[in-house]
Amino acid sequence: MATDTPTHRFATQAIHAGAAPDPATGARVQPIYFTNGFVFEDTQQAADIFALRRTGFSYSRGSNPTVAALERRVAALEGAKAAVAVASGQSAVLMVLMTLMQSGDAYVASSRLFGGSLGLMNRLDGRYHLKPQFTKGLTPADFEAQITPETRAIICESIVNPCATVMDLAGIAEVARRHGLPLVVDNTLASPALIRPIEHGADIVIHSTSKFLGGSGQTIGGVICDAGRFDWAAVPGRYNLMSEPWADYDDLVLTERFPDFAFASACRVFGMRELGPGLSPMNAFLTLTGIETLPLRMERHCANAKTVAAFLKDHPAVDWVSYPALPGQEGEAMAARYVPQGPGSIFTVALKGGEPAAVKFIMSLKLISHLVNIGEIKSLAIHPATTTHRQLSPADKAAAMVGPETVRLSIGLENAEDLIADVAQALSQLG
Ligand SMILES: *Cc1c(COP(=O)(O)O)cnc(C)c1O
Repeated sequence: MATDTPTHRFATQAIHAGAAPDPATGARVQPIYFTNGFVFEDTQQAADIFALRRTGFSYSRGSNPTVAALERRVAALEGAKAAVAVASGQSAVLMVLMTLMQSGDAYVASSRLFGGSLGLMNRLDGRYHLKPQFTKGLTPADFEAQITPETRAIICESIVNPCATVMDLAGIAEVARRHGLPLVVDNTLASPALIRPIEHGADIVIHSTSKFLGGSGQTIGGVICDAGRFDWAAVPGRYNLMSEPWADYDDLVLTERFPDFAFASACRVFGMRELGPGLSPMNAFLTLTGIETLPLRMERHCANAKTVAAFLKDHPAVDWVSYPALPGQEGEAMAARYVPQGPGSIFTVALKGGEPAAVKFIMSLKLISHLVNIGEIKSLAIHPATTTHRQLSPADKAAAMVGPETVRLSIGLENAEDLIADVAQALSQLG
């Protein structure tokens, strides 16, 4: 679960971190360990692993060697002390919230988040009394304004899905530090190739690996990374899974047993062993393979997105484009500061003809696929107001920049001229 000290640069780590030639066979590619169980040496070893007195594989719901290689690699790329891989990005958000908090606790959440995260947060509030305290705006002061004595964490995305807003992570981390709260950053839309939130002060980083990390749109997955520096014991009883004795584990205290990654350990024991959203070794293998080309892919994703966004912005049928790498865009300074390589490849475009134009545009695209994923090598389009963000009120949709006139694009790695030709012919259908 813990990672080696990183000694190589990012592109090298993307290929090598966390995996090595198989000691048993010499296989150069990470083997896929398709097994539920692992034979114990003796009953003492079995008992020790179950009691967390020693680490080791026992049952793939808790950990698996192929999945562990993915965990080590993502932890290395994020500069984290440890990571836990889960079945989806959605379960990463769920596991973080449930591990940090108990019923009655609250957390400050950015008002601009992926629709699935907003839906989950509102549902958990209604059923389990984990209260999201949504910000009014997106500045660090807006996050600070929502903090109450019940607040246990601050959550935001590094680059917001779908409108590509780049958040002031260092400013928000400063607020979190001042109030003794962990900062959780969903880094799905940036990937560690563009932003490493831990370097800006994040304590926990989560991913949907279904997007850029896997990269080819083959598998659903998620990862939770633990920076390992938050002081869970500073206020006694507050983060009890990390800092208080577990009576059913011989009074084990995770901050004492795993001081460098107490949060990841709590996710492992409570999240994986008890809640159980494990990642298949096959999916871990495909994601590991995808990560090997992540730095190269992100360069092209950003370049293509900027070219297509610039074309759209100047088109007479287009009202606005939300891609902060374009000159004069809202959020341009924040994007230049945090993502000099470019703010990824997911953005929204608003059509002057409103919802009918948005629908016609999507239906007229030929090369760009109409589907709900993002961050794939193939270019994709969706109408968020009636799909990913449909549960939001009209006001919340406007705030999230996903009104009825808005289309979300995820720009892939095709030839940019072909992409522009497709977008141009679809826009020409609008009349
Ligand atoms: C897609 C996404 C998720 C959810 O991930 P799944 O793998 O689809 O469950 C969470 N956060 C963000 C920012 C996403 O884009």
